Amino acid sequence: MTEISLTLPSGEKKTVPAGTTVAEALKELVSNKERKQTIAARLDDRLVDLSMPIEADAAFAPITVDSPEALEILRHSAAHVMAEAVVALFGKDVRVAIGPATADGFYYDFDRAEPFTPDDLVRIEEKMQELVAVAAPFSRETMSSAQAIDLFEKNGQPYKVELLRDLGAESVSLYRQGDFVDLCRGPHLPHTGWLKAVKVIKLAGAYWRGDEKRQMLQRIYGTAFFDAKDLKGYLLQIEEAKKRDHRKLGKELELFAVSDQVGPGLILWQPKGALLRKIIEDHWREEHYKNGYELLFTPHIARRDMWKTSGHLDFYGENMFSPMDIEEVSYQLKPMNCPFHIGIYNTRKRSYREFPLRWCELGTVYRFEKTGALHGLMRVRGFTQDDAHIFCRPDHLEEEIFNILDLNLHILKTFGFENYDIYLSTRPEKYVGSDEHWEQATTALKLALEKKGLAYEVDPGEGVFYGPKIDIKIKDVLGRSWQCSTIQVDFNLPERFEMSYTGEDGKEHRPIMIHRALMGSLERFIGVLIEHYAGAFPVWLAPAQARIMNITDAQAGYAEEVYAELRRAGVRVEKDLRNEKLNYKIREAQMQKIPYMLIVGDKEVEARQVTVRLRNGDNLPAMSIPEFAALIARENEAGRTGACNS
Ligand SMILES: [Zn+2]
Ligand SMILES: [Zn+2]
Repeated sequence: MTEISLTLPSGEKKTVPAGTTVAEALKELVSNKERKQTIAARLDDRLVDLSMPIEADAAFAPITVDSPEALEILRHSAAHVMAEAVVALFGKDVRVAIGPATADGFYYDFDRAEPFTPDDLVRIEEKMQELVAVAAPFSRETMSSAQAIDLFEKNGQPYKVELLRDLGAESVSLYRQGDFVDLCRGPHLPHTGWLKAVKVIKLAGAYWRGDEKRQMLQRIYGTAFFDAKDLKGYLLQIEEAKKRDHRKLGKELELFAVSDQVGPGLILWQPKGALLRKIIEDHWREEHYKNGYELLFTPHIARRDMWKTSGHLDFYGENMFSPMDIEEVSYQLKPMNCPFHIGIYNTRKRSYREFPLRWCELGTVYRFEKTGALHGLMRVRGFTQDDAHIFCRPDHLEEEIFNILDLNLHILKTFGFENYDIYLSTRPEKYVGSDEHWEQATTALKLALEKKGLAYEVDPGEGVFYGPKIDIKIKDVLGRSWQCSTIQVDFNLPERFEMSYTGEDGKEHRPIMIHRALMGSLERFIGVLIEHYAGAFPVWLAPAQARIMNITDAQAGYAEEVYAELRRAGVRVEKDLRNEKLNYKIREAQMQKIPYMLIVGDKEVEARQVTVRLRNGDNLPAMSIPEFAALIARENEAGRTGACNS
């Protein structure tokens, strides 16, 4: 019998007879306790089932329920069980497509003439639980592609046949559990009994292979965890996310709207949303001004020739809207602001003495997104980037990156974001610019991150073709990540637009260009803010900071006075003088998440005061109008400086 050698993660080597299965090997290699927690194994770089025979020397690592790969195996196995349940319930008229694991669960796509109903989803989950109870093994078999095609043709599964034909492999692996067989690479759980904490979540539509010209399928999402407690926690989080959905809150709080008549993906800012946006923009401009930036404005369209020079037509053309002709010259809507800023740079000769130039613009750009990809404020067709470009010498790079990080993180903090993941992306396979420049720029980015004391991950080869970059993903209150800030060094556009400056040596040089966005897009950032705060914005951001309400008509005159005086003092105040019960007015203001309710009755008129009620139901002592205005001014200041995010 041939012996083979397995190297454990500890470096220890063990020999077993060739053909020993992973499960058998585990008995020899790990403790009973660990073995019971093991669902698969890694042989060299390959994940395999417990039933897999080991034929050659390999590095051997058990995949236990705590391994980073384990959830994906669990969820992917759950997808098979979902498909089995659907076929068992709805018979042979269901055709199965694909069922991968996702970041937080799994899905399976089905082709069925009749749409699934919410009741069907309940039945599917119940059926899955039955299948889990019998703990059916997932068994692997390999066969030739031709045999597999034959089998799926007989089963009436054309999607599997198409996949097999496209795969064009000689032999393929199939997995069987109970009566269900699926084309799959694996690995899977040893048996369905592991799927104790599984949940069917929702239904959506999806095109076969993501191609809108192909069949529309029904996608059923689910999730699974090893532990019922984790599943419960996840379901609570989904509930919380639903309550915070910016599309729902945007409507309830009258912040923004999208209208069919105007067109999908185009945001209409209602008065309160517009005010919120103005507060954010003003803050952004002030902070940039303080940090040595100059403000620019540039047009929304430019000659098509400019987009040729910039390379956008070649590299970004499919994201741009179609050209329009003006006096026989072709123009196009801008997908980016960069070439305009370069246009301003190139209006005259530049000298090193002016450097670094820090130019910023809240620039509205238009990018084509498929209708199906659009999502509230998060994915739109027209949006405003909080853009900036820095033009400098190579030796400025590190300091400029440091300054950008400083400003970025400060502004994010003022909006209540203090947790983030930072990524540094380095040179990809295809790139422009010299190796020396890449090296220098990448080092500058690293040094700036380190000087700022920031932990970061390197994404090797994930830089843009024109230069290395830093991406910052912020974490919201639910722990979800949002890509917002990006800082990119660019060796390409200065070359394409023949930019230059006169150096200390009196000769002409190419400047370095840095692209930078902090919020990314105002639309998306406001979407994130709405969900982060569940619409209950901190006082300095709240579009309405206070609402005045009278108890009876007798105080209407005084309420008007309070309203006018607070507006003059710069407080964002509303009034509700309707002839309604006070409790009703209070409830409405709470629904609108207005931080302060100012109540005036006869007592307040008498004392020239207001009674202050908070949106959480607490009361502050009665105060005079100047006292309340001063309170708001303090809160504004605390919010803008990041001293307080409550
Ligand atoms: Zn599978
Ligand atoms: Zn740019």
